[in-house]
Amino acid sequence: MSKGRLSGSSPRALAVLFLAVVAPPAITLVWLGIQLLQQDRSLGAQRDLERRQAAAQAVLRSLEHSLAEVERLTEAPLPAPLPDGVVRFTVSPTGVEAQPPARVLWLPVPRSMPPAEARQFAETEKIEFQGVADPALFTYQEIARSPKPAVRAGALLRLARIHRRAARWDDALAAYHSLAGINRVAIDGMPADLVALRATCSVLEDSGRKQELRREAAALEAGFLAGRWMLDQPAWELVAGQLEQWTGRALQVSAERKAFSAVADWLWNEWQRNRELPASGRRLVVGEATLLWRTPGGVLAILPSVLRAWTIPITAGEHLSLVTASGRLLAGPQPLNGPATVKLPASETGLPWTLVLSPGDSSRQTQEFAGRRRLLSLGLAAILLLLAGGSYFLWRVIQRELAVARLQTEFVSAVSHEFRTPLTSLRHLTELLEEDDDLPRERRRSFYEALGRNTERLHRLVESLLDFARMEGGRKPYDFEPVDAGELAAQVVADFRKEVEPRGFTIDLDVEAPAAFPLRADAASLTNALWNLLDNAVKYSPARTGPPAALTAAGLAQAGAAGRLRCAGDYQEERRAVHVSVHRHPAGVAISVRDDGLGIPRHERKEIFRRFVRGEQAGRLGIQGTGLGLAMVSHIVQAHGGTIELESEEGAGSTFRLVLPAHG
Ligand code: ADP
Repeated sequence: MSKGRLSGSSPRALAVLFLAVVAPPAITLVWLGIQLLQQDRSLGAQRDLERRQAAAQAVLRSLEHSLAEVERLTEAPLPAPLPDGVVRFTVSPTGVEAQPPARVLWLPVPRSMPPAEARQFAETEKIEFQGVADPALFTYQEIARSPKPAVRAGALLRLARIHRRAARWDDALAAYHSLAGINRVAIDGMPADLVALRATCSVLEDSGRKQELRREAAALEAGFLAGRWMLDQPAWELVAGQLEQWTGRALQVSAERKAFSAVADWLWNEWQRNRELPASGRRLVVGEATLLWRTPGGVLAILPSVLRAWTIPITAGEHLSLVTASGRLLAGPQPLNGPATVKLPASETGLPWTLVLSPGDSSRQTQEFAGRRRLLSLGLAAILLLLAGGSYFLWRVIQRELAVARLQTEFVSAVSHEFRTPLTSLRHLTELLEEDDDLPRERRRSFYEALGRNTERLHRLVESLLDFARMEGGRKPYDFEPVDAGELAAQVVADFRKEVEPRGFTIDLDVEAPAAFPLRADAASLTNALWNLLDNAVKYSPARTGPPAALTAAGLAQAGAAGRLRCAGDYQEERRAVHVSVHRHPAGVAISVRDDGLGIPRHERKEIFRRFVRGEQAGRLGIQGTGLGLAMVSHIVQAHGGTIELESEEGAGSTFRLVLPAHG
């Protein structure tokens, strides 16, 4: 088929031209998009950094405020309770005091108490150790009634000892019980009541009274952990060890209390070294991660984790950390290092550590950015898609226009050929008639008949061209009237037979019974349409030299190339029949024209109904035509409210069927 292909390198040139036009804006667009994204990202990062800087300043201010608040609390004439995580230490030559005391585990110097009486018992103890227990027991019982707690404590301790040695557990427990009621007396540097309670547990253990032991140990543990006795570290660890043994589990001690106890030790060491408290100002007790500073009321110790909790709430996704100058993490999560992290060093803040605000959860920004990037990418993709779609559409339009231009050129040359053949005959016949006046009558008449036929052919050609122009312009007038399809077909077939029978064609007509097929039609136009179909059926059924089996497109192409196809006036008697039939159709009436000719390749079956379009074989085999016939048939059938059906088999023939609505 004469498809609208561009000749030579035109498509490639056109494609290059197209690319040259389309690619630069597309590339520029993508580049701009990427630039925009990058700018967006750096702008976002800049904004984040500024926001974080402002937040860090706000955090600092809130910290300062909280610290000032705590200072104010401790300086008040009646010191108010301190918030959690804060301990005030007062240091004096006698030791270190912690306020509130329950926030430390031990103190460097235990609280001083008068020792239990010992000298008074020297004589009695001598008797006791000589193995004469009863008089000693009696003496201790007597002294245990003393009003002086120190004397009483000494007597009870010894009384319990004698009972214990004699395995009189209940008596020993009773003595220890009495001893537990005495406080502010020290036995071997440890409060008497604590000694009594420990001894009680020990007796219960020795006597195998496990349940009671558990109960007593639990009570002792509660008082011990609540800070009822302020011990030094060795004593504390001794009691703690015993408790763990009696209770069978580790002692639950908070790191915070351990840290504060260590601070007390440190303070005492400092005092002993310098005989004064650390210089005024905030400092960090490195190793214990505790902030200390002097206030008129003593030394305040604060845990950094508590400080962090005092700061104003920071934006979700931001992390606040406190880090020492050496980079050790004091509080908060491990900060991220990077340009997005804001650091306020000690030199700037006056605090003894660096305050770090880092984008801990960068996923939020990443998500935000990813959202924007997705949107922009989608926009870009949409624009590119539009550009591609537009380009494709434009490309198709240009190709189509070029194809039409080419078809028109082919049409002009085809029409010229169509005119030339009858014109050449006319000139030739006229010359013959002019040259010889003595031509026999018969011969002269046949010349005149030939002149008439050719003139008629020219007339039909011009008429059909004018008709087509009118149809295309929508100016073709149709004169609809009742017509019988069978009669019309019979008339056209009769006229057409006269044309082609001399050339060896047979046209048979089969009108289905009953032979009345009323239509509302423009008889002249319908005749024209049917004539065109008959003309094509004859035109595209050229004579073949080979057997019918060789009637393939390839075979025909070969035959044509070898010049074995005969010209229009040289047809043979084989397979030259055209069959016309008029019959009923579900949509009305059908007029079919069937031939046994070349057939039409599947891919051409739609295109051949477009104006100027000619089949590939028509061109290759040199069959004359203008490419207007089927376009005209289409116009006419449409004007009648009908359709055209085409069935074809390559090399076996075609059937064109005009389906028209029946009238009445
Ligand atoms: P033309 O015959 O002048 O080329 P038409 O519009 O009548 O133009 O037909 C268009 C094309 O359809 C022809 O070039 C031919 O390839 C194909 N064609 C039409 N009728 C037949 C037929 N009966 N058998 C085979 N091919 C046909």
